[in-house]
Amino acid sequence: MNLTLGIIKPDAVSKGATGKIIDRILSEGFKIRAMKLVHLTKKQAEGFYKVHAGKGFFEELTTFMSSAPCVVMVLEREDAVKKWREVMGATNPADAEEGTLRREFGSSIGENAVHGSDSEENAKIEIAYFFNQLEIL
Ligand code: ADP
Ligand code: MG
Repeated sequence: MNLTLGIIKPDAVSKGATGKIIDRILSEGFKIRAMKLVHLTKKQAEGFYKVHAGKGFFEELTTFMSSAPCVVMVLEREDAVKKWREVMGATNPADAEEGTLRREFGSSIGENAVHGSDSEENAKIEIAYFFNQLEIL
């Protein structure tokens, strides 16, 4: 079993898709070990996405991620990092496979409904950005 960080991004929360996305998470065999609603400040969004600092989309991304609340979750499953990225689909919803969350709920490459860690190493760093040990069951 391993852990990954999932985020239901502001676009999906704002359009009322949170419940459907959580249903999907559970039906794919994940256990939710921690979850909270957070409205990131611009600085907090910049800290979370600091690997992308300097890229053309950084300003758009961090403005979007701090525009409204999102739901952050620690997800547990066998092969959690890889499996959650499969369930999310490709970064650009237009390229994401039918049945993926980004295909269903994303509206553009920027506003793509969900986030997932890209490696076990980054999952540890990203989980620690939002949760302390006592908050993870
Ligand atoms: P992923 O979220 O699939 O791991 P990246 O780590 O490459 O993708 O990018 C982080 C986030 O930045 C994406 O989920 C998306 O919201 C945003 N993003 C990536 N590329 C672009 C782009 N070309 N234009 C606007 N936003 C982008
Ligand atoms: Mg990424």
